[in-house]
Amino acid sequence: MSLVVHKYGGSSVADAEKIKNVARRIADVRKSGTGVVAVVSAMGDTTDELIGLAHSVSSQPHPRELDLLLSTGELVSCTLLTMALGDLGHEAVSLTGSQAGIHTDTSHGRARIDRVDTARMQKELAEGRIVVVAGFQGISADEDITTLGRGGSDTTAVALAAALEADRCEIYTDVDGIYTADPRVVPEARKLDEIGYEEMLELANYGAKMHPRSIELGAVFQVPIYVASSFNQTPGTLIHGNADKKQMENRIKVTGIACTTNVAKITVRSVPDQPGMAAALFEPLAQSGISVDTIVQNTSEDRTTDISFTVSGTDLPAALAMVGDLTREMGAAGMVSEANLAAVSVVGSGMQHTPGYASRMFRILADGKVNIDMITTSEIRISCIIKEEQAQEAVRLLHRGFALDQE
Ligand code: ASP
Ligand code: MG
Repeated sequence: MSLVVHKYGGSSVADAEKIKNVARRIADVRKSGTGVVAVVSAMGDTTDELIGLAHSVSSQPHPRELDLLLSTGELVSCTLLTMALGDLGHEAVSLTGSQAGIHTDTSHGRARIDRVDTARMQKELAEGRIVVVAGFQGISADEDITTLGRGGSDTTAVALAAALEADRCEIYTDVDGIYTADPRVVPEARKLDEIGYEEMLELANYGAKMHPRSIELGAVFQVPIYVASSFNQTPGTLIHGNADKKQMENRIKVTGIACTTNVAKITVRSVPDQPGMAAALFEPLAQSGISVDTIVQNTSEDRTTDISFTVSGTDLPAALAMVGDLTREMGAAGMVSEANLAAVSVVGSGMQHTPGYASRMFRILADGKVNIDMITTSEIRISCIIKEEQAQEAVRLLHRGFALDQE
């Protein structure tokens, strides 16, 4: 029997009517003979409300208790959906993450899935039932309930699809797919029919927002992930591993334009040019959980070098405090920083081995009088650090310049 995993986000199950709508959608699939496992998020803003409640009774809610509390949000939606399916004449059963066999590590609030023991789900499916699983939770080796982190139901869904070897995972949400750029910035942005996993990781913020770990899992286990709206039948976007196979080498290689704002840059000046300096700088930052993105180090003439790197603007004060001390320890001349920057990226697979994409990007930005501060490239993207105030315009220029508004 074919099997699909469906996932419905909080806005898709926000009230009784919406839950009944979801039940009808699942029932239609089940009627066609396909087995269905449905993963649900908590109704509407339930998780935020539960977090608020926890903080109203405790200044520092205990992580174990907070996880058990948050897990209840998904129990409400999954039991209600199961009842609604029953009313449509379908046998369905709700399962907590733990009952569904989702075993995680013990990191409360950001647990990672170790394994999925599918026996219970298999038994229910074999008996013809629709299995409805509470998203974003599991059970740890200590037999405590854990949650996977905000938005983690996507990861639950893809993990179940992988473990059950389902035909695909379908994520239903309140937008109808993944776009070539943020539609709020670029009105001509187009919905993509398909996209590869790596490119999806870069464009995940445009249109449907997805838990990045779900995409990584999908890529590792080659689970095709279909993202579409739960409110209509408009075709969505398929995220899979062999996007574009129909078009071999001469396919259009740019998939979309990504943009990250609130980027800050730190430059450490005149670092002695000797082994160990980059490690001395970046190890302490990594240990304190500050993630560093673009790094540029130039070659030196006077046996010193400048090292520039970007961090999120939110991490800037903490990073500056650390780098100030490190600068002295390293014997560097000093540091300067700049906030309110953005990273704009042209994303697409296969660009790297085709000449001309980078220069075209720089020409488009130059013609738009956008100054480039730093440049990095990877297998699937070319990124420029620019002033944040020019970011939206740069995205629009690049979207047009790479003809992404045209089919
Ligand atoms: N309900 C959880 C949250 O709001 C998990 C999810 O929606 O995927 O983060
Ligand atoms: Mg939610």
